[in-house]
Amino acid sequence: MGLDYDDQNIFARILRGEIPNDTVAENEHALAFRDIAPKSPSHVLVIPKGKYVSFDDFAANAPVEEIAGFMRLCAEVIAKEGVGLDGGRGFRAITNAGPDGVQEVPHFHLHIMGGRMMGPMVSLRD
Ligand code: 5GP
Repeated sequence: MGLDYDDQNIFARILRGEIPNDTVAENEHALAFRDIAPKSPSHVLVIPKGKYVSFDDFAANAPVEEIAGFMRLCAEVIAKEGVGLDGGRGFRAITNAGPDGVQEVPHFHLHIMGGRMMGPMVSLRD
């Protein structure tokens, strides 16, 4: 494992079944569920089941099988939500990391968002 991980973060509690979630897809290595405050008609969070704080932690430290399992679950979500380029209109995949990335939950997650035009990539505010 890489960075210090807080076992009490909300996604750790979801993984332990302590907090309910609206599951979209799941496999051995990852879980996908709907964001509680969706910013687009389709807004799904994909998280690894392992304890990784952020994308850089996951990319550097997860075993390749876990990375593959995570990526395949992302593909499954994109297909299920009908936003992939195989018939759909596309999507945006975002991950926030640390204070400058404005990461709220310190368990790595990818936001997969679609169902509307997503607008400019970044809108800066103070
Ligand atoms: P971050 O800013 O860390 O990239 O995004 C965290 C996301 O988690 C936010 O979009 C927020 O709405 C979502 N979130 C926070 N708490 C919960 C929760 O208890 N359940 C679900 N499904 N989503 C949550």
